[in-house]
Amino acid sequence: MRTADAVVIGTGVVGAAIAYELSLAGLRVTVVDRLGDVGSGSTSSSSAVVRFHYSTFEGVAASWEAKFGWEAWREYLGGPPEEALAKFYKVGCLILDGSTQREQVLSLFERVGVPYECWDADTIRQRVPGLDPGRYGPPKPVTDEAFWADADGELGAYFTPDGGFIDDPQLAARNLIAAAKLRGAEVQLREEVVAILKKAQVEGVKLRSGGVIESPIVVNVAGPYSSRVNALAGVSEEFRTRTRPLRQEVHSVPAPSGYARGELGPAVVDGDLGTYFRSHVDGQLIVGGAEPACDPLHWIDDPDTYEPRPTTQIWDAQVLRLARRIPSLRVPHRLSGFGALYDVADDWIPIYDRTSLGGFYVAIGTSGNQFKNAPIVGRFMATLIRACENGHDHDADPVVVQGRFTKNAISLGHYSRLRQPHAESAYSVMG
Ligand SMILES: Cc1cc2nc3c(=O)[nH]c(=O)nc-3n(C[C@H](O)[C@H](O)[C@H](O)COP(=O)(O)OP(=O)(O)OC[C@H]3O[C@@H](n4cnc5c(N)ncnc54)[C@H](O)[C@@H]3O)c2cc1C
Repeated sequence: MRTADAVVIGTGVVGAAIAYELSLAGLRVTVVDRLGDVGSGSTSSSSAVVRFHYSTFEGVAASWEAKFGWEAWREYLGGPPEEALAKFYKVGCLILDGSTQREQVLSLFERVGVPYECWDADTIRQRVPGLDPGRYGPPKPVTDEAFWADADGELGAYFTPDGGFIDDPQLAARNLIAAAKLRGAEVQLREEVVAILKKAQVEGVKLRSGGVIESPIVVNVAGPYSSRVNALAGVSEEFRTRTRPLRQEVHSVPAPSGYARGELGPAVVDGDLGTYFRSHVDGQLIVGGAEPACDPLHWIDDPDTYEPRPTTQIWDAQVLRLARRIPSLRVPHRLSGFGALYDVADDWIPIYDRTSLGGFYVAIGTSGNQFKNAPIVGRFMATLIRACENGHDHDADPVVVQGRFTKNAISLGHYSRLRQPHAESAYSVMG
């Protein structure tokens, strides 16, 4: 029989960040993952875009605080200087008109302190050569003849120079796990949690191999398996906001030679055509979907049975939309990309919370938008867990975390499992 002060279920970037922060706080942490490699679940598929436009104050404030963690990644990890680290490419993030809630987001940027610039079509052309600022929206299926119509005017945009992307999301999770291990954490890979042990409180986990880890704290960070793990703990019914897996595809195509002067272009959110895309360090552009209303959503019942290969239908939709925005793009004949899963909360805002089962916590429903927040979510959860374990009633009096870098106060009540879905959310990956 093994014992731990805390068991974290999942070595994705969020689980890894929580394991690290709990280890920093002096707890003996064991992290368990059913897969064979750290961060090889949905984290390894992440586009890892760092951006700040969310529809709520907490969304903007958390992503802005986390940005400073990425900038000071080595210092944050406090690890050996020779270790290979994930790198933050600060190429900026360009949000084209047609993306929702522009005025609301800009007023949140003012409140939080996120620098931004407003660009007209000429500025877009000049700053990102190769990007066509034509207005084609609202988004249409590529099978609709209207998709091919000429532009109806031109778009403006807003630009946040501090946005960008992390080059290797799985390496970021590995970095966090390595830092946690330096502080005593243990990792068990190829081990699936098949039962949550409990009496009045949580008492530990049972593994598929038959082993048991006794622990007074268990944290569900199981990504697309989150609702399944909640069911094991018997807490599903109390969640007013639920989580479920959604299949997504990300494709990659060679960047045309002149695009963005041959340099890394900004991450672009194109609500006018219904995609987001960014340059990658290998000369490719990667493109994903932004849930335009004209496209069906692919909800998945069993996260073990989704299709990991790209499909012609979604490839056509995303790559042809990209080709409208970057007219010099050559669309390859062979599909390149993958299918992966988001763990989507009803309002696309994550759930970082306690539960009615004492000692059982959740960091779930990351809704395709929380990779960037890992450096602050670890702290959110460590602070929340410490408070609750010391008897604080977080449901009645939500814990507030103040940003180390930005000093913004973020109420963790925002992420409560007991909330009705947030009305102001964009109900998309924007969060
Ligand atoms: C295609 C795609 C693109 C994305 N793009 C972005 C982006 O540009 N920017 C951004 O900020 N976010 C993005 N995201 C979201 C971001 O990647 C996720 O929010 C984040 O990686 C979630 O990390 P996690 O640790 O919560 O979950 P995961 O990485 O899914 O990890 C969960 C882990 O739990 C393990 N597990 C599950 N059940 C059990 C069990 N019973 N026992 C043991 N282990 C278990 C799994 O094996 C898995 O490794 C994207 C996500 C996807 C899929």
